[in-house]
Amino acid sequence: MKVYQGVPVYPGVAIGKLSVVVSDRVGSQKRVLIQPGQVDKELRRIEAAFRGANAALETSRDDATRQLGAEFGRLYEAYLLILNDAGMRSRIEKAVSEHLVTAEYAVDSTLNQQADLLRNLDPHYAERANDILDLRDRLLHELLSIRAVDRAETTEPTIVAASFLKPSAASKLDPAKTSAIVTENGAIGSHTAIVAAALHVPTVLGVGSFLTETGETTVAIVDGELGRLVLDPTPDVLAQYERKLNRLHEEQRRLESKNRSIYAKTLDGVDIEIKGNIEFPQEAKTCYEYGAPGVGLYRTEFLYLTSPSGTLPNEEAHFEAYKQVAEAMNGRQVTIRTFDLGADKLPNGLKFTPEPEPNPFLGLRSVRLSLRNGDMFRTQIRALLRASVYGKIAVMFPLVSTIMEFRKARMIFNDVRDELLEKNVPFDRDIPLGIMVETPAAVITLEQFAHDVDFFSIGTNDLLQYAMATDRTNPSVSELYEQESPALLRMIKRTVDVARTYDKPVSLCGQMGSVPENIPLLLGLGLRTISVAPGMILRLKEVCEGYSIADCQDLAARAALMESSTEVRMLLRNDWHERTQTGY
Ligand code: PEP
Ligand code: MG
Repeated sequence: MKVYQGVPVYPGVAIGKLSVVVSDRVGSQKRVLIQPGQVDKELRRIEAAFRGANAALETSRDDATRQLGAEFGRLYEAYLLILNDAGMRSRIEKAVSEHLVTAEYAVDSTLNQQADLLRNLDPHYAERANDILDLRDRLLHELLSIRAVDRAETTEPTIVAASFLKPSAASKLDPAKTSAIVTENGAIGSHTAIVAAALHVPTVLGVGSFLTETGETTVAIVDGELGRLVLDPTPDVLAQYERKLNRLHEEQRRLESKNRSIYAKTLDGVDIEIKGNIEFPQEAKTCYEYGAPGVGLYRTEFLYLTSPSGTLPNEEAHFEAYKQVAEAMNGRQVTIRTFDLGADKLPNGLKFTPEPEPNPFLGLRSVRLSLRNGDMFRTQIRALLRASVYGKIAVMFPLVSTIMEFRKARMIFNDVRDELLEKNVPFDRDIPLGIMVETPAAVITLEQFAHDVDFFSIGTNDLLQYAMATDRTNPSVSELYEQESPALLRMIKRTVDVARTYDKPVSLCGQMGSVPENIPLLLGLGLRTISVAPGMILRLKEVCEGYSIADCQDLAARAALMESSTEVRMLLRNDWHERTQTGY
C-alpha cells in the first residue's frame, strides 16, 4: 500500500481502477534503434496507429457535426486530409526502414521536422504547424496506448489520473466515466478544481509524483475530503473506505429526500438564497431540482474551452446553451457571466496575444479581452439577449477594475440591444447588468460603481489572488492563498456594506462559499445570497438552517479581531465542531 497526500479539492470517496490520461503534448521520444528483423513489426504498428487515429478523428468529426453543425465537422476533415497524405506516411515509414528507429521515434522526429519547416517558411503557417503537432500526438497516443482526455474508451467509471490537467482538458472528461480525479500537479484555486466540482467527482490535486508507481496498481482510493490517494490498499484500509463510501451515500440520500424549499431559513427566520455556479448547461437541471433560487454564476467561457481546437462557438451554439439553462431554471434567475477567458482558461488552438504573456493573470483576460475582441463579445451578447425570452436572465462582466470598463461593456451591450430592436428580434428589455467584484480596485472604488451597476457578485477566488499578490494556480505560494485571510474578509465586508448603502443586490460566488464551515462567517458578514457548486446546495442549505443570524454576526465580529488566516480557520473549525457535536 502507498499513501500520497495532496490538496483536497472536491469531497467524496472513490474506489476503483486508475486510468491515466494526458491532456498536453506527449513528451519527445528517445531515439531507440531496432534490428533489421524488427522493421516489419514497426511498420505494422505504424499502420495500426494511422488506422486508430483515423477512426478517432472520424468519430470526433461526426460528434462535432451532430453537436455543433457541419461547419465544425469540416475542421476535422482538414486533419483527416493531412493524416491521409501519402507523402507524410511514407516519410515516417522510410525513417523506420532506412534509419532503423522505432515507430515512436519515426513519428516524433518526422512530424516535428515538418512542423518546424512550416513555421520557418512563414509565420502565417504557425497554425498549420500546430495541426501537424496535434496529429503527432494522436499517433503517439495510439502507439503508446495513452488515452487522451476526450477519448474515454472505458465503459465503467474509472479514477482519472494525470500529471496535470488543464481546465480545457478537464472540461472534456465524461462525468459518467469519471469516478474521481487525481493529479500530480495542481492547486486549489485553479479552474481545474472548479471543473471537478462541476463534474461532481471527488478530486485531489498536487499529490506529487505517483504515476510511475501505478503500473501494477489494481485498486486505488481517492479521498476528496482528506486530500489522499491510496494505491493498493491493505484489506483493512479498503474495508474502512468501503464503510466511509456507504456512509457518504446514505448522507446524500438523506439530503436528497429533504424538503427542497427555495429559501433556507435561519433559526431566527431570515431567508438565505443558496444558488448554483455552473460551467455546463446540463448542470442547471441539478440546481433547479435541489431547489436553488437561481444560477448565481454561469461560467460561459467553458463553451469556448469545449469547442473543437482552433474554433470559437458560433451564435447558435451560445444561444442553444443559454436557452437550455434559462428553460431548465423555469423562471428563476440565471446570471450569465460573459466569457472570462485568458490566464489559465485558454481555448485549444487559439491565441489572443501574438506572444505568450509574461504574467497572464495580470494580462489580457476577462472583460479586457471582451473589449479588445468586439466581434466575439457581440456574438455572445446577441445570443444571450435572444435567449432572454426563455427565462429570467441577468448579465455580469468579469474582472472589472474601473468604472470605465463597465461603461464600455455596457455601451456594447446596449448597441447590440438596439441592433436587435431594429430587426424586431424579441428579448427581455429589463436585463440587469452587474459586475464581478474580484479586484481590489473594484472593492476600493465600489461607490463609483454603485450608481451604474444593477448588482454585485463577489469573486473571492480572484479577489484573494489579487489582494495577496499570489497566483491562485501556483502551489509554491499556496500558504498565502487562504480563504480565511483577514484581508479578504475585510474586502468582503466592505463590498457588502457599500452595496447595502446603495441598495444594490450583492452575492458571493467564489469557492469560499462552497465550504460548509465558511457559511456562518459569510452570513455574519452580511451576505444573504451565496452561489455554490451545485453538488453542495442541499448540504449548505442545511447549514444555514442550523444558525441564527445573531450567532453568525457574533462569529464574524470575533473573526474580525484575528490577525492571521490560521486563527480565523481555528475559530471557524472550533465553532463548527461545537455545533456539529451538539447536533445543531
Ligand atoms: C472568482 O474569481 O471567485 C470567480 C467566481 O470566478 P472564477 O473562479 O471563474 O475566476
Ligand atoms: Mg474570477
